Amino acid sequence: MAEYWNEPASRALRADGLRIADLDTSARPGFRGDKQAGKRLLTERGRVLAGEQEKLYANGRSGDRRSVLLVLQGMDTAGKGGIVRHVIGSVDPQGVDHAAFGVPTEEEKQHHFLWRIRRALPRGGQLGVFDRSHYEDVLVARVHGLVPEEVWQGRYAEINRFEQELVDSGTTLVKVALFVSLDEQKARLRQRLQRPEKYWKFSPGDIDERGYWPAYQEAYQAILDRTGTEHAPWYVVPADAKWYARLAVTELLIAALRGLDLNWPAATFDPAAELRRLERA
Ligand code: AMP
Ligand code: MG
Repeated sequence: MAEYWNEPASRALRADGLRIADLDTSARPGFRGDKQAGKRLLTERGRVLAGEQEKLYANGRSGDRRSVLLVLQGMDTAGKGGIVRHVIGSVDPQGVDHAAFGVPTEEEKQHHFLWRIRRALPRGGQLGVFDRSHYEDVLVARVHGLVPEEVWQGRYAEINRFEQELVDSGTTLVKVALFVSLDEQKARLRQRLQRPEKYWKFSPGDIDERGYWPAYQEAYQAILDRTGTEHAPWYVVPADAKWYARLAVTELLIAALRGLDLNWPAATFDPAAELRRLERA
């Protein structure tokens, strides 16, 4: 594995100081293998991820309250769903707390924007996954003026406080922004319109949103600049190559889980004595 990476994904993809306008969405930062190597590695590293996640789950069952939360952001077709299927799909579903955030329901609209987010946070020992998140409230809400400017302006600080709280309570945040080019998005939307098995992923509004691309780029830049913190950094993943994005997120999750320094929980019984007892039973 090491021979394929010039530097760990967790370093190569850190967003600190990155300008989205300069981003090459077809790049594979840190990785020097080709698609074939990447795909093979994805299977192999998926197994490693599953092992690390099982350790987190096992510790959770023994009372460890820590968790890891993957926050996925990206424009339509950026590959958020594919990450959930192909990366999260490699781990034990029992240990996953998944939540997708769409247009707020009538009930959600009655509450503070973090209300629905708090309700979906991962339990101790779980790997949480947010397909879109509280960041929509400074993305779509900002781009379309869904709330007055002073409201969305205040949300950056609110988000930073909220995330600090999460980290303090034992949640490791892995914030990932996936970026595809405008052309790549067009190709993926075209496929959604040409293949009946993909119709379900398409909304006519996706085409209208393309007209707001520069405004979204600006809103994404503001997120990186204002909510990329030491305790909850952003990782920017070029996502024109799906295999690369999936492999990169796999590596980010492995690094986050390993950062918890987990061991298998010790037995609360005497295994040797239990074995002897078993043999006699
Ligand atoms: P999808 O991820 O394709 O299912 O689409 C979900 C849609 O919900 C996207 O168009 C998002 O922009 C929209 N959405 C998510 N969160 C919010 C929010 N807080 N306010 C308004 N729209 C949202
Ligand atoms: Mg969509």
